[in-house]
Amino acid sequence: MQLSLSKLSLSKRTLSKISIAVALCCSVIGLTACTTSSMGRNQITLFSSSELGKMGAASFEEMKKKEAISQDKATNQFVQCVANAITKNVPKSAHQGEWEVVVFDSDQINAFALPGGKIGVYTGILNVTENQDQLGAIIGHEVGHVIEHHSNERLSSSQLSQTGLSVAAAILQSQEVDNQNMWMAGLGLGLQYGVLMPYGRVHESEADIVGQELMARSGFAPEASIKLWQNMEKASKSKGQSTPPEFMSTHPSNQTRIAKLTEHLAISKNYYHVSNTPDCVKPKFMRKQD
Ligand SMILES: [Zn+2]
Repeated sequence: MQLSLSKLSLSKRTLSKISIAVALCCSVIGLTACTTSSMGRNQITLFSSSELGKMGAASFEEMKKKEAISQDKATNQFVQCVANAITKNVPKSAHQGEWEVVVFDSDQINAFALPGGKIGVYTGILNVTENQDQLGAIIGHEVGHVIEHHSNERLSSSQLSQTGLSVAAAILQSQEVDNQNMWMAGLGLGLQYGVLMPYGRVHESEADIVGQELMARSGFAPEASIKLWQNMEKASKSKGQSTPPEFMSTHPSNQTRIAKLTEHLAISKNYYHVSNTPDCVKPKFMRKQD
């Protein structure tokens, strides 16, 4: 079953459907399917973290087979160094154990993180990233989606809108989801289009804030998140990509994100201590694109 992009992003209509469904869901499926995001938003998460972890790991293996992987040592060290600093500060409730980090050799301005402890960074996004702090902002944002269970919500809302609560409950009971295309679409990996699918506005805003706090805790200057989005705006104008990947997503607009990140800066700065700053060196040959 192919899922359309419009069904995957959380539109206002879907959100109101979901809020009605939250009440039903709690009584039909049980309390485990109802959670609250760290921003206080009600969420329906029909899948267990182990199910999501398996979906994330299987999808990541597919990505590794289909996409070229960078073998450049300095690039890999830089990305791994920043990712290590970030993942050390991720709550164990989001992922226990090691995180796997892969640098994909592609001009796409993109990055992603998946449940199950997987992080992918495209070399294209490193050209927009000036330093370790800005890469910290990118990885913080992506891991923020995982911490906040966004792919679980996206998969759950697809289930609910397509099949109704009774079937969703049956899927839960069977403890098995066998349609890998559906998992991968729900996780944002639209391989059939060769791009990653953007999340909706609410998820993006949440990942921005959670990511800014996470980067600050990890020793990256949180104001770099603002400079990063300014760079993204310039890159999106000059690149003119035909389909919007995560980082070129226009909802929320770059201006809205920058305003919200600026507003939240004072809070994130409380978590930032210069003494925690990692020493991840961006390879010299990688220059910012003008
Ligand atoms: Zn995002």
